[in-house]
Amino acid sequence: MIRTFRIFRFDPEKDQEPSYREYQVECPKGSTVLDALNEIKWRQDGTLSYRRSCRHGICGSCAMTINGKNNLACESQVETLKGVIWVEPLRSFPIIKDLIVDMEPFYERLKAVKPYFIAGTPPTDKERLQSPEQRKLLDGSYECILCGCCTSSCPSYWADKDFLGPAALLKAYRFVFDSRDEGTQERLVILDNKHGLWRCHTIFNCAEACPKGLNPTWAIGKLKQKVIREKF
Ligand code: SF4
Ligand code: SF4
Repeated sequence: MIRTFRIFRFDPEKDQEPSYREYQVECPKGSTVLDALNEIKWRQDGTLSYRRSCRHGICGSCAMTINGKNNLACESQVETLKGVIWVEPLRSFPIIKDLIVDMEPFYERLKAVKPYFIAGTPPTDKERLQSPEQRKLLDGSYECILCGCCTSSCPSYWADKDFLGPAALLKAYRFVFDSRDEGTQERLVILDNKHGLWRCHTIFNCAEACPKGLNPTWAIGKLKQKVIREKF
């Protein structure tokens, strides 16, 4: 079946402003949006730029906005999309070219929450063990592939570019609720301010956008409770 793709195009080195270009693409059953972009790039217009890598929803490279929703192009089945298929870059991320955005501000926010173990006690010759219950607390946080779909769909991030955003906050949850980590106090100081946890208004856009089915809103709620319990 031939489908129409309307794709965002912008080359800051040549264009005054962005535009949209249409392509007709033959999409056999089972085609993904990434398959269609490859078809365009390889057979119709080699100037189209986008990121891709694993093709299996693991690397997070092909995150973009498809018919208004953030998703991975490799996980978006063409046959589930109605009408003309609009393909645009992630919202609120600086555009490098066409569908390629600058992920650096996103990674800066991630770095800000100290996304690594902080161990006050020196290592011994034994592993740092957890009970099954302690380990279970981390389910739904370590699976994040850092695609950026959640942060790009977050209205609070659109309004406040200093907001840490749902992906960084989910990463903070992953360490704050890890029984082996000893950096909770220094992380909570980073999270407990107007550009941190409290900027989240519990709208759930991030949970809806996450291609891995994760729920940053829930994790942010748990972190808010933690801050309140520690303070009062
Ligand atoms: S729930 Fe919070 S973090 Fe998620 S999209 Fe809404 S404001 Fe952003
Ligand atoms: S929480 Fe989900 S949407 Fe957000 S960066 Fe991780 S995998 Fe992507």
